[in-house]
Amino acid sequence: MTAQADHPFVYDGGALCCEAVPLTQIAAHVGTPTYVYSKRAILAAYRRYVEALAGRSALVCYAVKANANLGVLNLLARAGSGFDIVSGGELERALAAGAAAARIVFSGVGKTEAEIGAALAAGIACFNVESAAELETIDRVARAAGRRAPISLRINPDVDPRTHQYISTGLKFSKFGIAVPEAEELYRRAARLSGIEIAGIDCHIGSQITSIDPYVEAAERVFDLVDRLGAQGVGLRHIDFGGGLGIAYRCEIAPSIEQFIAALLACADRRGHGGKTLLFEPGRSIVGNAGALLTRVQVIKAGAAKNFAIVDAGMNDLLRPALYEAWMDVQPVVLRTGEKRSFDVVGPVCESADWLARDRSLTVLAGDLLAILSAGAYGMSMASNYNSRGRPAEVIVDGDQYHLVRPRESAADLYATETVLP
Ligand SMILES: *Cc1c(COP(=O)(O)O)cnc(C)c1O
Repeated sequence: MTAQADHPFVYDGGALCCEAVPLTQIAAHVGTPTYVYSKRAILAAYRRYVEALAGRSALVCYAVKANANLGVLNLLARAGSGFDIVSGGELERALAAGAAAARIVFSGVGKTEAEIGAALAAGIACFNVESAAELETIDRVARAAGRRAPISLRINPDVDPRTHQYISTGLKFSKFGIAVPEAEELYRRAARLSGIEIAGIDCHIGSQITSIDPYVEAAERVFDLVDRLGAQGVGLRHIDFGGGLGIAYRCEIAPSIEQFIAALLACADRRGHGGKTLLFEPGRSIVGNAGALLTRVQVIKAGAAKNFAIVDAGMNDLLRPALYEAWMDVQPVVLRTGEKRSFDVVGPVCESADWLARDRSLTVLAGDLLAILSAGAYGMSMASNYNSRGRPAEVIVDGDQYHLVRPRESAADLYATETVLP
């Protein structure tokens, strides 16, 4: 486990707790699998961003797709956070959670006219535009509504974030963003559209980034363009550096939130843009280390070449290992003595990709609880109902209390809206 100050999962007397609540208590009352989040850790990470930006005109827009639970969004909304959304569904969710529309930015490559209309009617802060065609659509929808839509163009700076290829978004062969020369032309076009108001510029180069260099490289390219646009009379109010800061899943040395912000502020100051409104869109670095997936071992199976601990959580509950071969830390909830053996921790889903951890040295018996740590981001938000499995319950711990913020789905929930032919 990492020794980060706000890591909320710690052992007390041999039993793993989230803040002051033993995970055994949650498993007994809520069952498993269950996602457990720490209120303290979520808010601490958010506040680290805010404090690192103190004295600046800045807005932290939490990326909803990392963890979209209403309870999580509401904690952040109450703390004053903005939100980065990527769909009309996330817009509705954020507003239902109490988000201020004026602090919402809307990213994504395939916004529909209906989604654009809804976001415009809600009065969001900015559309982060990803193509010339999208700009034309937003202009048309805005003019039809008698409005001007605030926009930013998402630049593809063509830098390698040195992370997994599935979560790299700022390289020139990526579907995301607009190449710099094209963006320059598109800003000139945007300035002539009566349904468009130019608000800013943005980029987002990837996720789980563990080095500051690619950010600074991307920022330099954004500032080059901002300067060229300024010389042509195209002014921008804000610069949005996106999200993507990595967290420690294992022993990665990710830059701290403070180091990350300081590097970008220094770059902005050096380039003479430190006085503009600066936006950040962190997702994983706010909620990742704040959550764990609590699961129970169903079966211990000795295969021909490997031992398997088959647990009640599967790839449908936590997709990261199957999708990215991600390494997730697995810890016993109650420490036992006895010889350790090597296990693959796998789920019950009928796919060979259904594994959560490989070759882990554990002392574990059927019936034991395991915690899969750093599962607060891209865990529940990527969960599916594959194999007609209801998605896990979700709990937020607050000190020595916990709150069920989403009950476990039942099988009946899953087919409740399906029908048979007459
Ligand atoms: C996913 C995403 C984010 C958040 O990324 P993290 O790695 O979770 O910080 C921010 N902005 C955009 C546009 C995204 O797509």
